[in-house]
Order: sequence, then C-alpha cells, then structure tokens
Amino acid sequence: MTNNGVGTMTLQLPECRDGLCVGIMGGTFDPIHLGHLVIAEEVRIQYELDKVIFVPTGYPPHKAKRKVTDPEHRYLMTVLATINNPYFTVSRVEIDRAYELTYTIDTLRFFNNYYQGKAEIYFITGADAIMDILSWKDYGELFSLCHFIAVTRPGYNLNIEETIGKVCPQALSRIEVLEIPAMQISSTLIRQRVVAGKPIRYLTPDAVTQYIYKNGLYRHARE
Ligand code: NAP
Repeated sequence: MTNNGVGTMTLQLPECRDGLCVGIMGGTFDPIHLGHLVIAEEVRIQYELDKVIFVPTGYPPHKAKRKVTDPEHRYLMTVLATINNPYFTVSRVEIDRAYELTYTIDTLRFFNNYYQGKAEIYFITGADAIMDILSWKDYGELFSLCHFIAVTRPGYNLNIEETIGKVCPQALSRIEVLEIPAMQISSTLIRQRVVAGKPIRYLTPDAVTQYIYKNGLYRHARE
C-alpha cells in the first residue's frame, strides 16, 4: 500500500519508467464480474501491457440520476476480484473524489502527471460507453492522453466512423474495438439474479459473491 498523492492509501501503482504500457480499466463495477476480468487479461496480453489498473468510478456524471452502490463496496469488490492476478491493481483515484462528479479526463490527467507523460496509456471500457464519448468532458483532450479500447461482444456493429469519426476525425486513430465473447456476463444480470434469489456462482469470483451476500447488496430491485 502506498500514498499516491491523492490523499489516501491506495494499492501499489506500477512504477514510472520509460516505455511503460498501462491499461486503465474504467467502469462502475457494480458488481465486478468474470467478464471484466477476462477482458482485462485479454487486453493485457494482446497489447503487451505491463499492468492493468482498475479504476472504479466515483460519482459518474452519466449516472447522477441512477442508483449506484456505495463506492467503498464497489472498490472492495474490485480489490477482492483482482487480488490474485499480479498484473492487476486497483486505484482509488475516482473513489476518493466520489463527493463530486468524476470525469474520465481528470483521471487521465492524474495518470499522465503520475507517469510524467512517459507511459503509454490504454483506457479500456465497454463500447456502449465509448459510443457516447463525444458527450464526455473535454473529449478533444481525451484522445491526446490515451488510446481507447472499446470492448464489445461479437457481432455487435459499432459504426464508430459514422458516429464519432464525422465529428472528431482524430479520434478514429485512437479508438480500437475489441470483440470478447465473455461480454455476455453483465453487472445488470448479476444484480437481477440476486434480486430473484438465483445463484451467481461462476459469474463473479467466489470472494465477490460472498461479499455481496454478507453485505446484503442487490437484494432489492432498482427503479
Ligand atoms: P456503463 O454505461 O455502466 O456501461 C456500458 C456498458 O459497458 C455495459 O454493458 C457495461 O457492462 C460495459 N462496461 C463497463 N465497464 C467496462 C469495462 N471496463 N470493460 C468492459 N465492459 C465494460 O458504463 P460505466 O461503467 O458507468 O462507465 C464506463 C467508463 O466510462 C467509466 O470509467 C466512466 O467513468 C467512463 N465515463 C466517463 C464519462 C465522462 O467522463 N463524462 C461519461 C461516461 C462514462 P457492465 O455493466 O457489466 O460493466
């Protein structure tokens, strides 16, 4: 554990050095599941990343009107899920800003400062989220700070050229789409199964399953 300059203890981030390649796995992780882990591992291998840093969202602007589980629960479940992979770590950078709206641009600026511009950064997240990227804060700058890996399930046609390329042509060279079959698992599915009293075994790591039951998470349907 170290203090990474954001005011609280956080898990060890990879050390700064020339040529470092890091993935930033951004998501609400409500809860984290095996699909997320398969995706992070696949991207790490395909893009030869040194580490993948999971960044659970704090208080995301697009969810301001929707109920999201307490940030500390989502952070702890992410730690439990990733603890046995030496290439994975978790950052509290957004969790510690959860009292205000948290924007991806601020997170990317934080990591660029932390790595003094020496690291190649790959922001990994769901393609649905990336399709809305032109509504994100300071989206023009986003593309100068990192590459985006938009993860989708096979057969899902994204048409990034039409939706994003027409407005922001420079984005096209910075966004790559990756199809991953394990994307069939979703956080929504897990929440619905808990509400319905169905098992969630093999959808998320055992430790996360136990954490969910022990803390009574997802027992009630969301509006
Ligand atoms: P979301 O809208 O809840 O999720 C959209 C889709 O992407 C869902 O199918 C979701 O599945 C999937 N997904 C989410 N994270 C993923 C990941 N890391 N890898 C693969 N699939 C993933 O999106 P979100 O989780 O809230 O946000 C995604 C990221 O975009 C976050 O880092 C968020 O901060 C960022 N974002 C930033 C802004 C902004 O700066 N203005 C606006 C929107 C989003 P599951 O539900 O199963 O995860």
